[in-house]
Amino acid sequence: MEVLTKNQKKDIRLIGKFVEVYCAGKHHAAERVTITLPAGLRERSICKECSSFLEYAVAKRLKCPLEADKPTCKHCRIHCYDKPHREKVREIMSYAGRKLMMRGRLDYLWHYFF
Ligand SMILES: [Zn+2]
Repeated sequence: MEVLTKNQKKDIRLIGKFVEVYCAGKHHAAERVTITLPAGLRERSICKECSSFLEYAVAKRLKCPLEADKPTCKHCRIHCYDKPHREKVREIMSYAGRKLMMRGRLDYLWHYFF
């Protein structure tokens, strides 16, 4: 099993949750695939398109060179995502952010990092 830092785990858990909420709302008719997150984080059941996005996001997060003193991704100077993925993550974050807010899941939002 991979060993991740606390911050990596936290961010990957969060992005997984956001993608899942987004996918459940937007792509509920699409076929589900199961994606297993690293380091014993739970599996997510999402569509193919979202699973390839999530894999991309996880890979980027694992490679983040600013680990020790990482700013929130919103304020990052590197912006490691390419343009289409950056637009996608913005869409996911604002959609899922609103949903979670309506459900009162503010615990996810304090760290709303995109
Ligand atoms: Zn989806």
